[in-house]
Amino acid sequence: MHPKPSPAPHAALLCRDLAKIYDKVHALDGISFKVGKGEVFGLLGPNGAGKSTCMKIFTGLIRPSGGQAFVYGKEVVKEPLAAKRLMGFLPEFPLLFDNLTGREFITMMGLMRGMEKEEVDERVAEFTEALALEEQMDSLLGTYSKGMRQKISFTAAMIHDPPVLILDEPTSGLDPRFGKYVKDIIRRKRTEGHTVLMSTHITSVAEELCDRVAIIDHGKIVAHGTVREVVERMGVNDLEEAFIAIVEGGVRGRR
Ligand code: ADP
Repeated sequence: MHPKPSPAPHAALLCRDLAKIYDKVHALDGISFKVGKGEVFGLLGPNGAGKSTCMKIFTGLIRPSGGQAFVYGKEVVKEPLAAKRLMGFLPEFPLLFDNLTGREFITMMGLMRGMEKEEVDERVAEFTEALALEEQMDSLLGTYSKGMRQKISFTAAMIHDPPVLILDEPTSGLDPRFGKYVKDIIRRKRTEGHTVLMSTHITSVAEELCDRVAIIDHGKIVAHGTVREVVERMGVNDLEEAFIAIVEGGVRGRR
């Protein structure tokens, strides 16, 4: 008798026919993709394409109107806590508690995720130095600039070193030094076997970082694959041209 084949390992992230209707807006219209362990996967698309909606469904912030999303086999609607434990999320517009200091906020996030206080303190010290936040860490978040808030949110998403990072526009609006820091972390996470799902509307960021991309327009995936595959399939010179062709209607994914 042949030994039973072992079951295929779960994809880090998987969604099938994901749909979301807000009132009458079809924000997502049947999206499916799979992201493997150690992959950086980019959702690329114009404003309003549905990128944030897709990420918010994975993180359990909103419920899909149809379809399913899984994090390492945990279905996000049925097993929200198990799925959340595996993830860190950087929202596009982070909500912080203005009456806490940066240190208090990050510490709270670490403790909520089951870390020991000493471990949290060590990681906060590392991030504080790497992000040059020494002077601000003990000031109230309400006094922080936009860039500083972004740094704190990024740190909070990463504090427990989750195997899956979901990053909504992680590099937009950042000064070049912090932008480079974020990109370096994303690359490092990949080498450590962690998985990143990120959105961007900056094609050069996707070219630099993403192993594979899905271009979304009007809630549908209209192109996907490695950057090279997308570019070759569309017969254009680079991802920027592919993006513009899609947005200007060269490729139709519309209802
Ligand atoms: P992206 O992240 O690609 O810019 P979003 O996922 O934020 O796109 O939005 C997709 C569509 O859903 C847009 O038409 C947007 O206006 C709509 N939308 C997003 N959130 C809501 C909401 N809470 N209520 C109603 N419509 C929404």
